[in-house]
Amino acid sequence: MGMKRRDLLCRSAALGLAPLGLLQGCDEFFVPCYDPDALGVGERELRAELAYVNVSEDEARTCEGCQFYYLGGENCGECQLLDGPVTRGGYCTSWAVKV
Ligand code: SF4
Repeated sequence: MGMKRRDLLCRSAALGLAPLGLLQGCDEFFVPCYDPDALGVGERELRAELAYVNVSEDEARTCEGCQFYYLGGENCGECQLLDGPVTRGGYCTSWAVKV
């Protein structure tokens, strides 16, 4: 299986469009880097308000490419607008290109 097809399957699984079992063997990029259940109520509400998702539907607009993102680990980063970890490949409606 070529990398492009594999990445597509991994992205689909991460978005819930394909069986989660397909995430096994996927690059960490596609796997949420934190436990969403560990977030506080206020943080969950803020993420919902900003429509935060762990996997962006647009490869050109991910947390990694956002001006509010800074790397906090190999796959997990921090966001200046949110309190808690965000996934490198995530996205929210406050996305702004990194300059
Ligand atoms: S503002 Fe949104 S897109 Fe940018 S790093 Fe934070 S969560 Fe990701």
